[in-house]
Order: sequence, then structure tokens, then C-alpha cells
Amino acid sequence: MTPTELLAEPTDLGRWIAEALAPVTEPVFPELLADAVRLREAIHDAARRVVDARRVRPADRATINGFAARPVPFTELGHGGVAMVRLRAGSQVESALAAVALDAVDLLSRDDGRLWACEGPACSLLFHDASRPGRRRWCAAQRCGNRVNLATHRRRRAAAHDQPTTQRPRGTAC
Ligand SMILES: [Zn+2]
Repeated sequence: MTPTELLAEPTDLGRWIAEALAPVTEPVFPELLADAVRLREAIHDAARRVVDARRVRPADRATINGFAARPVPFTELGHGGVAMVRLRAGSQVESALAAVALDAVDLLSRDDGRLWACEGPACSLLFHDASRPGRRRWCAAQRCGNRVNLATHRRRRAAAHDQPTTQRPRGTAC
């Protein structure tokens, strides 16, 4: 299956930041989209290497650290005592990417053996298993877990249909 690019247009990035952090009111230029994709690829490559118990490549480390060094969003006390994330004025997208990079630094430096690749056959997602047993197999049970279980069920049912049926002995009454 061909991977789908979810950050195809600058508006995709603005929408993603709004859903993940806070609304973006400044223009999202194509260069910022290119930055976001570069950071995403560095994080994915680095995480993949951690999953495979390999060292993170220096180039990926430099990319992540470069973004993590930028000013991060801040939090304000909003109406009704609710904490609200605010992106830095004048560099909203950059501050959002800094927050993503900082999260990556936190995740990739834990060394807790809980970073995994999803076992879904058509899934390239990596995930951190924070569950108590630490035996998760899929990025999300509702997504890949259900697909795998459904495929297994169909295979078993097809195999059962292929089994020769027991012949009733001739001449016996029902
Ligand atoms: Zn998955």
C-alpha cells in the first residue's frame, strides 16, 4: 500500500497544528511545510532506529535538536481557569515545530524499551506503549488491531470451509 502524505499542502500543516496545539493565525508558507516534513522524517527515522536498537543518525539528531532549540509555545491561564497553549507571535509554526521536536527528544531519550512498530501489515506508524503490561501490538486497537483480527478470522473461516467434511456412512438412516 502506498503511504498517504497527510502534509501535502501548507493548509494541512496549519490544520494539524490547530488540532494538536493551538490555532494558527499567521500564514503557513511552503518553506514552513518543508521544515515540518523534514522534522517529521528525522523523528520517524530516529524512532525507527530506536525500535531496531540502532543508534540515531547524527544528521537526524542535528535536525531534531535544531528545531528543539527554537522558542516553544507558552501556556496561559484562560477563562474559567483553563490552561491554553499559545503559539509564539511572529513564529507560530516554528514554535509548534519546536514543541514537536522537544517531545521527540523526550520520547527518544527514555530508553525504556517501549517504543514499537505497529504490527498492522499496511501500517508504518511507531508508538510508545505506556500501558501497564507493555504488550501492545498495534498503533491503535480500533485501527490496525481490528483489521488484523478481521483478516485472521476470515483466513480461519476460509480454511474451515476448505476442510473435507466427514462423510456420513452410506445406508444409515437419519
Ligand atoms: Zn497501525
